[in-house]
Amino acid sequence: MAKGKFSRIRNFKGPFRGLEERLSKAEAIPSGLYHFTLDEQGVPRRFHLRVEPDGKGLLTIDASRIIHLNETATEYVKLILVGADERTVVKRVRSRYAVDRNKVLRDLKEIREKVLILAHDWKICPITFLDLDKIEPFTTPVSVPYRMDLALTYRCNNNCAHCYVERPRNYPELDTQSWKKVLSKIWEIGIFHVVFTGGEATLRDDLVELIDYAENVGFVTGLLTNGRRLVQDSLMKGFPKRGLTMSR
Ligand code: SF4
Repeated sequence: MAKGKFSRIRNFKGPFRGLEERLSKAEAIPSGLYHFTLDEQGVPRRFHLRVEPDGKGLLTIDASRIIHLNETATEYVKLILVGADERTVVKRVRSRYAVDRNKVLRDLKEIREKVLILAHDWKICPITFLDLDKIEPFTTPVSVPYRMDLALTYRCNNNCAHCYVERPRNYPELDTQSWKKVLSKIWEIGIFHVVFTGGEATLRDDLVELIDYAENVGFVTGLLTNGRRLVQDSLMKGFPKRGLTMSR
């Protein structure tokens, strides 16, 4: 089984240290899960911004980099990701926070640069070069998990001695429409990353359809497989190019 990828969890305060104390009366932006794809440097990156009911946020890049945001940082990041221009940002921020125009522009520039560096330069150390705090995994409360693994079937074309599957191989399976409902529900509660597994998920004839559906909803998708069926061109050609990662 693949290990989780969430080893880099950071606290993104950046230029906002102390700003919260200067807030006039800030309303939280609507809670929920927001999905963006940005292609600033010829490499599309998937961003998910999960805004919690208290206004704090969780920003993820390709479901791999995880950045915790305070309320003001969440607001700035959302404005950046929707492509708001400077005038819009200044107007909106100043209508909500007691901060002058130049400060808004400085903060906007700084946080935009940091977001782009985090998205496109995976070699740079964010703690040393971006002044971000590192948070050890599982030390920060989160409202719901980041990722969910979906066992589409318990059938398998292998018979490994070490097999971890305890259920019988003919265990009843959900049909395609039911899995789509599950995916929609998972998205609604704020999970942005799903991994299809089993048993052997490639034995499901609707695997490509489910991956397509999940990608269209906005998920980053993954697949855990023994790989044996991946020699089939029909299966490989059907996999969407973006998002899907393979392991195991
Ligand atoms: S490939 Fe995985 S699911 Fe299949 S028998 Fe081996 S361990 Fe079990």
